[in-house]
Amino acid sequence: MTTPKDDPGVSDGTGAAPVPSNFIRDIILDDLKTNKYEGRVHTRFPPEPNGYLHVGHAKSITINFGLAREFGGKCNLRFDDTNPSKEETEYVDSIIEDVRWLGGDFEDRLYYASDYFGQLYEWAVQLIQKGKAFVCDLTADQVRQQRGTLTEPGQDSPYRNRTIEENLDLFDRMHKGEFPDGSKTLRAKIDMASPNLNMRDPVLYRILHMDHHRTGDKWCIYPMYDFTHGQSDSIERITHSICTLEFEDHRPLYDWFIDQLGIYHPQQIEFDRLNLTYTLLSKRKLLALVQNKLVSGWDDPRMPTISGMRRRGYTPEALQNFCGRIGVSKTNGTTELALLEYFVREDLNRRAARVMAVLRPLRVVIDNYPEGQSEHLEAVNNPEDASMGTRQVPFSKVIYIEQDDFREDPPKQYFRLAPGREIRLRYAYFITCTGVVKDASGNVVELHCTYDPATKGGNAPDGRKVKSTIHWVSAEHAVDAEVRIYETLFNREDPNVVPEGQDFTVNLNPNSLEVVSGAKLEPSLRDAAPGSRYQFERLGYFAVDPDSSREKLVFNRTVALRDSWAKIEAKSAPPKRGGK
Ligand code: ATP
Ligand code: MG
Repeated sequence: MTTPKDDPGVSDGTGAAPVPSNFIRDIILDDLKTNKYEGRVHTRFPPEPNGYLHVGHAKSITINFGLAREFGGKCNLRFDDTNPSKEETEYVDSIIEDVRWLGGDFEDRLYYASDYFGQLYEWAVQLIQKGKAFVCDLTADQVRQQRGTLTEPGQDSPYRNRTIEENLDLFDRMHKGEFPDGSKTLRAKIDMASPNLNMRDPVLYRILHMDHHRTGDKWCIYPMYDFTHGQSDSIERITHSICTLEFEDHRPLYDWFIDQLGIYHPQQIEFDRLNLTYTLLSKRKLLALVQNKLVSGWDDPRMPTISGMRRRGYTPEALQNFCGRIGVSKTNGTTELALLEYFVREDLNRRAARVMAVLRPLRVVIDNYPEGQSEHLEAVNNPEDASMGTRQVPFSKVIYIEQDDFREDPPKQYFRLAPGREIRLRYAYFITCTGVVKDASGNVVELHCTYDPATKGGNAPDGRKVKSTIHWVSAEHAVDAEVRIYETLFNREDPNVVPEGQDFTVNLNPNSLEVVSGAKLEPSLRDAAPGSRYQFERLGYFAVDPDSSREKLVFNRTVALRDSWAKIEAKSAPPKRGGK
């Protein structure tokens, strides 16, 4: 068995250097050494089905499933579905899909806290019988008011000293539906003066005459999350109950329930929540974006949801590698969005085939190329991976290049096409610009060029050099597509910072989506399957949208390349974006 000292660390499966160990792994290694759980490692991922999963959940999934995998243990998927007013089957289904997509293998261990409602009810009765719980007639507001503060103790409820018999009778009648919503609660009898507010006679059950997405109208009282979570872990005989730091103060309460009930005791371990720059990871706020139609849905490619990232073209491996690299700690911080994008790029660089696509086409006529002729030129699919082979790209007299790749009056650092200048067309020929056609308002609408037939494949036999290579698409063979370019959804590094009296939506980036409708792609992309990913040479990584079809091809830009041209341009010319 390995120990923290001789332990080699975790491999992220990419062949990269092992990630250093972390305090959660070290606890597990220690527990294995002392045989604390008879050598078992059993974790769980416990989402509440009140929204879609986001990249923060990806961190939790990676940790929980990753540790189980590493130590030959198990990880359950459990829905903590205690709040019927916010939970829906749509969320359950999406969460299952997302967990599987991220590689979380829960086998047949798909559980629901709602399956434990009967057991939880019995445990509540046990607490009443022990004199450790009472039925309280205070309203939610009154409970809150009497709770005290961090510096002042709370006040005992006037109902705290009801007899056990009276409490058993009232709780039974709550269960039978005799009382209206909000009129009574069951509360633990712990200590209204505890320095930990969670221990001040917390509510265990509330009355809610509302159908539940799984139990229907069977129950009209529902256990609170705090009375459910720890016992659910106990029922499932979880060994390491790994959760985020905000639950640290709840741990004494979970321990209290388990000790009072005398049941199996998992160990809770807390780690830091993921926060990302330019990103909000609150389900409540993400739901507001969806409900107010500020995005196209939970899977809008601008959303930080797993389904949005999938639609955008992120791979599970990129998310896993990112989560592996950020690790875990005991203090909350904020991670740069750029780091996530780095892992997306690094992964796609190896797996995505490179193709040529022109987003904003400028027509180029090659005057000395024979009319009606075309030929196929060999192009490399991925210079990082020779096994991905080559393909044939058609070339003909009229091609498209990017509008950006031509300047009539090129600034100093601009080396691409300009009048009289020779450049290389990727995989094709050297061309020289000989003429510029403009429309009535002076916009360049067409270029005339000549090509040098001796430079086929992109090299001049006389050894002459050109300073730039640009991509292109043959006009007659091109496939039309819509391309969606994304920027960050928020334009403030911390979107929670909001001017007085406004809400977080003021930080939405008005340029977060740009739809480019007239893109021209090389013909190999005609049958690109939804979900497939490509590098458009010089432009970035792009994924075929799930709603894309042969009739209307739609690509989402996953992430830009690190673009040195853009940087030079930003220095030498005023920015072209913005103010749309
Ligand atoms: P809610 O406000 O609805 O409780 P939540 O983000 O806590 O939202 P859960 O469904 O309760 O959502 O989360 C499931 C699991 O994912 C929990 O164990 C939670 O700690 C973890 N988790 C949630 N958000 C993050 C995050 N940003 N970083 C790491 N883990 C997270
Ligand atoms: Mg939660």
